[in-house]
Parts: sequence; structure tokens; C-alpha cells
Amino acid sequence: MGITAGDRRGLLPSPETWLAAMQPDDPLFFFCPERLARIAGRFRTGFPGLVTYAVKANPAPEMLEGLALAGMRAFDVASPEEMDLVRAHVPGAVLHYHNPVRSRSEVAAGMARGCASWSVDRLSELEKLAGLPKDTEIAVRLKLPVTGAAYDFGAKFGAEPALVLQLLRRVVDLGLRPSLTFHPGTQCRSADPWARYIQVAGALAREAGVTLHRLNVGGGFPSDRGEGAPDLDAIFDTIGRSAGTAFDTVPQLVCEPGRALCAEAFLLVLRVKAIDDAAIFVNDGIYGGMAEWRDLGPMGRIRVMAPDGLPRPGPARGRIVFGPTCDSLDRLPDPVPLPESLTEGDYIVLEGMGAYSRALATGFNGYGARRIVRLAPVG
Ligand SMILES: *Cc1c(COP(=O)(O)O)cnc(C)c1O
Repeated sequence: MGITAGDRRGLLPSPETWLAAMQPDDPLFFFCPERLARIAGRFRTGFPGLVTYAVKANPAPEMLEGLALAGMRAFDVASPEEMDLVRAHVPGAVLHYHNPVRSRSEVAAGMARGCASWSVDRLSELEKLAGLPKDTEIAVRLKLPVTGAAYDFGAKFGAEPALVLQLLRRVVDLGLRPSLTFHPGTQCRSADPWARYIQVAGALAREAGVTLHRLNVGGGFPSDRGEGAPDLDAIFDTIGRSAGTAFDTVPQLVCEPGRALCAEAFLLVLRVKAIDDAAIFVNDGIYGGMAEWRDLGPMGRIRVMAPDGLPRPGPARGRIVFGPTCDSLDRLPDPVPLPESLTEGDYIVLEGMGAYSRALATGFNGYGARRIVRLAPVG
């Protein structure tokens, strides 16, 4: 059964309608500007401070321009290339250079582009920043042994509290402006790590005898990977209350979400290339848009449709899912529950796939989802 033009108007914006009409054979992302505007608005009204976007999570032009439309003016960047990308789409954007390890030529590139904030987590790297203009913000990055994230960034970056004290004092000696920052780890569903970090940040500022310019509470805000919509407001609330009690002089708050701002704005669509009893082969995999499945586990928000756009009915059963490349590592780590009636040519639609997906797609073996299709209501 096909879908008539009348149905299509009623359904839009609908991935099903578009797929039924276009029958794409390549994997692709749908971009939903309304969803991006909604989540950006949630951060801007709910977070008690400045919201910046961590570009690495999804540097697609659609993302940067959509955020600019939603009023985003400040961006967390890790490299000169990301700086230029942001400025190409958002002229005049404020850049926070929060990769704490930089070559000297990268320091020069960040200075030439007027980066407003620089993170550090070791003394040798702070000395490289001694030539920054006076009063430039230096955000000392703290790490604590807290749990709660799906994937901990603290294993690589961040200074222990004793070193944070030394760094804060040295920042002041250099005539630069001291701030603190941390990252609780990505996909952090509990507010507890933020509360703990903020409490320690307040104690360290007091012990160092330093009034912080700002406190950047990082990214790590969760998206819905199948466990239900996360309670962002509860996290915002905990952050605001914790800062109020941890500091004598409450610093201005900043956050730098990546995942939580981009995940819901994109869907990933796969097509079933071949099927046998226990396994299926799809047109994208861990070298493409599904790289995160290896580290964070499966994405639960899956639906399956026939080429005509109608849902595939029937009970689900777990199947091994192989990606398209000729590498035997290219399979999803766990069997994925899919309808019994699944058929070659069907589409698999994954919700909430904007984060660390297209940004990590490699192009290995000539595969990897790249195309973005904008889904917007028609008049
Ligand atoms: C990756 C990163 C972020 C964004 O993290 P999410 O978990 O995607 O929100 C924010 N800040 C820094 C310094 C990062 O490296």
C-alpha cells in the first residue's frame, strides 16, 4: 500500500513519508530544525548561566547555523580548524579553546583568532600561555574520581585538586583571569557528579584565595538513548543550587554541552542490504554513523519500516547486525531486537543520533553515513 499525496501532507515532517517517496539506498541523517530550536531553548531558559556548544559532538553546518538562529554565540572548540569552521558559519562567535594541550603553533592560532577562554590542566601548558593578553580567562580543569557518566573523560584530562591550587595561583601571577572548569564525563544521567564537582571547586577557590571569574560545568548532559527522556531541569537546578552554597562569591556559570544539544536533532536511517536467519547486513556500521555503539552500548530508540513507509509488525527477536565494510569488527556489539517480519530493502530508523555519529564516520571501505536531509514541515 502506498502513501498518497494527501497522507504525505498530513504526516510531514515524517521520515517515513520521505523514505517511501525517495527510496534511498545510502545511509543518511535526517535533520529536524524544530527539534534543535526546542532543545537549544531548553538550555537557554533552564541553565543558570551562559550556554556554549561543544562543536566536536556534531560540527555539521546545519547544527552551527541552527544554533546561531537559536541565539548561540559562544562555542567550545578544540582546534584551529574548529575555530575557522565556527566563524565561517557564525561570524563574530566567541571561542573557548578548551583542549588543554596545544602545540605552540596552535597557541599562536588561538591568539590570532582571539579565543576568549583557554583551559589548562598542567603547569607546562600554562607557561605556553604566558604571552596571552592580560586578563584573558584561563579555566583550570579539575578532575575528581566521580562516577555516573557512560564514558569518563577524566582519564585523559584534568588536574587533581593539589595541582589545581598551584595552577590557580600561577594564573593570577601571570596577570591572567582565573576560572575553573571540569567535565563530568559524557552521557551523565545523574546530577550528583555536578554537585560534587561544584562543591570541591568552591573549596579549592577558597583555599587558593582566588575569586573565580567563572565556573564552567562542562558538557556531559545526557540524551535519551532508550532509557527515557532525561530530566535536564533537575540537573540545571542542582547546578544552580550547588554553586549558590559552594561559593562565597558565586562565579558566573558556563556550560558546554555537545551531545545534549545535537542528539535529538538528527535521526539516522539504515537500509537492510541482506538478511539471513541469524544476521542482517545494513548499509552503515561502526566505521560510519554508529561508532559510539562500541563504547556506550546500543541505542534503544529503533523502528523498522517497509519500503512503502508502513511499520513492520510482529514480535522482535535479536539479530546480529553487520555493517557494510569487509572488516569482521564491523558489527554491533550486541544482538539488536528487530521484527520477525524484517525484509531485505527495509529501513531502520534510529532516533536521537546527532551526537558523535557523523562526526566520527570514517569513509573506510567507501562507506559511512554523510548525507543530511532536512526535515521541515511543508505549508
Ligand atoms: C567533548 C567535550 C564536551 C562535550 O561533551 P558532551 O558529553 O558531548 O556534552 C564539553 N567540553 C569539553 C572540554 C569536551 O571535551
